[in-house]
Amino acid sequence: MVFYRKYRPQKIEELDSSAIRETLYSVFSGESYPHAFLFTGPKGLGKTSTARIIAKVINCEKLVASHWSLVVDKKGLKTKDQLPETNPEPCNKCEQCLSITNGTNIDILEIDGASNRGIDEIRDLREKIKFSPAYANKKVYIIDEVHMLTTEAFNALLKTLEEPPAHAIFILCTTEPHKIPATISSRCFHISFKIATNEELARSFARIAKSEKITIDKDALDLIANISDGSFRDGVKALEEIMTLAKGEKITKELIERKYKISTVDRQALKLLEYLALKDAKKSLTLVSKLVEQGIDIKYFVEEVASKIHLMLLKEAGVEQNEKELSQENFTLEEIFRIAGLLEKAAYQLKFSVLPQLPLELLIVEWCGILSIDAIGKTQPKQKEDAQIKKEEPKEPVIEKPIQNVRSDDNWRLLIDKIKINNHSVAGVLRGVSLKSWEKDKVIIETRFKFHKEKLEETKARLLIEKVCEEISGGKTSVSIQLKEK
Ligand SMILES: [Zn+2]
Repeated sequence: MVFYRKYRPQKIEELDSSAIRETLYSVFSGESYPHAFLFTGPKGLGKTSTARIIAKVINCEKLVASHWSLVVDKKGLKTKDQLPETNPEPCNKCEQCLSITNGTNIDILEIDGASNRGIDEIRDLREKIKFSPAYANKKVYIIDEVHMLTTEAFNALLKTLEEPPAHAIFILCTTEPHKIPATISSRCFHISFKIATNEELARSFARIAKSEKITIDKDALDLIANISDGSFRDGVKALEEIMTLAKGEKITKELIERKYKISTVDRQALKLLEYLALKDAKKSLTLVSKLVEQGIDIKYFVEEVASKIHLMLLKEAGVEQNEKELSQENFTLEEIFRIAGLLEKAAYQLKFSVLPQLPLELLIVEWCGILSIDAIGKTQPKQKEDAQIKKEEPKEPVIEKPIQNVRSDDNWRLLIDKIKINNHSVAGVLRGVSLKSWEKDKVIIETRFKFHKEKLEETKARLLIEKVCEEISGGKTSVSIQLKEK
């Protein structure tokens, strides 16, 4: 994680997303700026980094002396025409900038809504907000995971936002915007953080490679962007790892494929075992679908997992001693036996499977106790209270859609075929769910499993499905995924 911290963007220009850069420049070029911001979007897209940059733009001593003094001049001498042409950027050298970067600025307060659900912090905030900042131009409150606040804390926050003192700015961050009451969000300037495009990510990685004096070609940057799945944080981690593996060699696409994938397989095999030990089906299945997206050879992966289980077995038998990285204390000997058997089965099925990941997914589902699958392959729901994913009794054992519209069925088949070209794992999930209805502008997909629903609702998957549905329907089409009722 060293790079992630080292290359955390420190000014607006260094932010990945061009949309966010432009928004911030335009917000802070004017005479005044909003007193509250709401940042929404998935984890790892730089919401907190951006909040800190805003704190610096507002408080940087250099900007306070130039940019902001022109704007907040005495006697209403608004001097828009005097505003500098250049975009406002923090200097990152003055006391204010440095202390914000280090997290030691006492006027910049970061509150984590997730811890203790914010009760004490918000109470504290309400008590202290009336005091002017100690050294800074303005106090900045950054409230992370704001949706986790209790109703009580929310109400307190709302009161503050209704009558904010002139010396305070609020930046609320959330991964779940729908949980923010309208009374709060309507008082905020909303900035939505989207998953970075591959070009945006490649731009950031190029910036890092340049300061590290690393030679890396364009294809390699694109491949890393691809591996990172929209997350700057993951991408930087991958880049760092690849640089270590490259040992000063020029980084090319081939080099990454050769070295990175091998280490990925090793790491992910350990990860999978960790998830299996916890019987966490959701995480395990997500891991497998990521491997498929990254083009990892599943057969090779299964062999890797098997060899780790083999080592565990040897260690348990006292033959092999020095395999320290394996956290086998999570598995009993009996479990090792069972999982070895399941792996054997999966490896065998892999030879005939249409979808290479399917046997491994079946292994996960069986191991985690969601379904018990007997030898002839019939699935039977098994009562298990602590199953990670709720199973439901199958409906009447008759055909589920007796008089389905033939046209809809054709569309459905076409949808899966078309999606398969772009994304195998999404197509795989679609095969496991069913079409409820396909009307001209509305497609409803049905599934019994929450993890299918979640999988299909992931941004990447959802956009792809929508796009293909629109191609087939020939017009704007909404897609919804419903959980099948009992
Ligand atoms: Zn500064």
